[in-house]
Amino acid sequence: MRVHLTATAAAAVRRGHPWVYRDGIAGGGEGAERRGERRRGERAPRGGGAAASGDVVELSAEGAPFLGRGLWDAESAIAVRVFQRAQAPALDERALAGRLERAFALRDGWFEGRDTTAYRLCNGEGDRVPSLVIDRYDRAAVVRLDGGMLAPWLDRLLPHLARALGARGVRSIGLRARASTTSGDTEGKKLAHLHGPPLPDRLFVRESGVAMEVDLARGQKTGAFLDQRDNRARVRALAAGRRRVLNLFSYAGGFSVAAALGGAGRVTSVDSASAAHASAQRTFRENGVDPAAHEFVTADAFDFLEKAHARGDRYDLIISDPPSFAPSERARPRALGAYRRLHTAVARVLDRGGVLCAASCSSHVTAEDFLATLDDATLERDDLRIRAIHGQPEDHPTLPAWWEGRYLKFVVLE
Ligand code: SAH
Repeated sequence: MRVHLTATAAAAVRRGHPWVYRDGIAGGGEGAERRGERRRGERAPRGGGAAASGDVVELSAEGAPFLGRGLWDAESAIAVRVFQRAQAPALDERALAGRLERAFALRDGWFEGRDTTAYRLCNGEGDRVPSLVIDRYDRAAVVRLDGGMLAPWLDRLLPHLARALGARGVRSIGLRARASTTSGDTEGKKLAHLHGPPLPDRLFVRESGVAMEVDLARGQKTGAFLDQRDNRARVRALAAGRRRVLNLFSYAGGFSVAAALGGAGRVTSVDSASAAHASAQRTFRENGVDPAAHEFVTADAFDFLEKAHARGDRYDLIISDPPSFAPSERARPRALGAYRRLHTAVARVLDRGGVLCAASCSSHVTAEDFLATLDDATLERDDLRIRAIHGQPEDHPTLPAWWEGRYLKFVVLE
């Protein structure tokens, strides 16, 4: 099957961008719309003819008979994910298994010993295996597929996965259905069993020597936010000698326990989900920290900040790691406004001499955009400087042309 691209889409593919959106396909499909057989904007294959999800397609463009090979997705906005740009022998399960082995081998030796037992084994596009994410939680691995193109390949890939992961001490493999992006992070949270002994619903992993409970069955992402591992270690170092720490959007308390172990006097965790606090408290206990010495508040972070300010409460270390405010380009202006409102409110309860760690996980918000939501006018103060800007760790690699993969910003202001 051949898919002919527009000049713009072809240029992106040449640069190494792994996605072709449906409107990057030249011709095809519009006829049906014009004839009224399909409503405008309705999801339907364009170009690609009768291709089904998972079919291998060859990409071409004006003056370029062969641009590369990818897999077709009949459903999602991304019609093709590009796997090969060179004239490689074939795009088959052996080629995919080879890519996966390279991703796993890259990480061999990174997390030796038992200090860190949870990390990303394959970061999809960033490891040149588009749409396939694999996270390791000790002896369990959780696979997540973005879009529908790899689902038909899973049965054929599983023996390769079981062998390569088994050799690295992984016993069980599960599949996490992805939440639909339009309905937020609430749907499709099912963990299906693929291989080996049944996966536990919940388990403790270790991260830089710290125990952390992970809810594989119901947690966010594949269970935990592994992309913040290095930043949690940074917070631990920053927490020494702090009297009052505030962790906003605390989820399972990763930053909270890091701060407590780092020597903070009292850590206040704020999240709208009470189940997250129950998990955080188990994590505290597992690390030998008494949760009763700390505070867990089930509340909207904005409401909490308003009340804390009214009470005159102050904190000398604040971590703010909200969910993505900008799931799409269209949502960007509103998201920047929300970050600004959040940061203004945060700055009002930050002590003089305190440290603010502000994170954003929206790829549609660039580092510069995000820093603008932390400027003097927004924070209503002129005593802070950027101490560091961090991003995601090495087990979350990206590609130069795939800017969408570099979503995490973690700004330390002091
Ligand atoms: N910092 C966490 C990840 C945060 S995920 C970590 O390192 O693991 C975002 C969290 O924000 C979720 O737990 C969600 O329940 C919570 N949340 C979303 N909207 C919120 C709001 N308005 N107020 C408080 N918590 C909120």
